[in-house]
Amino acid sequence: MLRTHSSVVSGSVALHYFDPSERWRPDDMDIYVPAGRRKRVLLFLETAGYYTVDRGRAIKPDYGDNCGVISVTTVCNGDKTIDVISSCSHISIAPIVRFHLSAVMNFLSADGFFCAYPSLTAERRAICNSTPFGHGQPSPSTVHAYVKYAHRGYTLRRSPLEFDNSDHICRRNMLCPLMVRNTFDAGCMVVYFRAGLTAVRQAAGVDIVKYLVVWQMGDKDCKTGERYGSTHAFAFVKVA
Ligand SMILES: [Zn+2]
Repeated sequence: MLRTHSSVVSGSVALHYFDPSERWRPDDMDIYVPAGRRKRVLLFLETAGYYTVDRGRAIKPDYGDNCGVISVTTVCNGDKTIDVISSCSHISIAPIVRFHLSAVMNFLSADGFFCAYPSLTAERRAICNSTPFGHGQPSPSTVHAYVKYAHRGYTLRRSPLEFDNSDHICRRNMLCPLMVRNTFDAGCMVVYFRAGLTAVRQAAGVDIVKYLVVWQMGDKDCKTGERYGSTHAFAFVKVA
């Protein structure tokens, strides 16, 4: 189903896949679908015994500011709940690279697992993504999400330099919020579910097979706080 509909699983299920030793258990499953695919995915889930309990409501607080999500539909099957989340574009992972925290920029596709900040996430450290709220303050819903992950044992900072007084050249370090990252760069971790995938398939997600997705988490120098002009909160380039 994920492959057929160019969709991925993200949220707490993907994070728990990365580190199943977490003290918390994943809550609902979140399936991210491209714009225009929601109805077909819901139809598939209906045939699997799921029924809709909350149809196409506005985005829920956890998704944060300017998150690239159009709507969320919740379906249930007994004690199993799935949120079907419509991306604002034809790329299902568009909202994932705009998430409020680096620790949740992960997804499971039909072919593999993708993590944008594996070293930080393995240490239960997370960088706050300031790009979605621009030069203002995070909304109460984003603050709510920060608190949720702090309770789950994550340490949240604006820059990786604030964790351990390390140093780096801004915009040249994979963990720097100013670094323009993409889904093919060396900072990402991809785990394949089976051997023998073609080079194209090895890009893990159905979306990043066809598109190189670009993101950036902030616009301030880690040491000086100096603001840079443009940001790349989300962009994509067709590669196949
Ligand atoms: Zn930096």
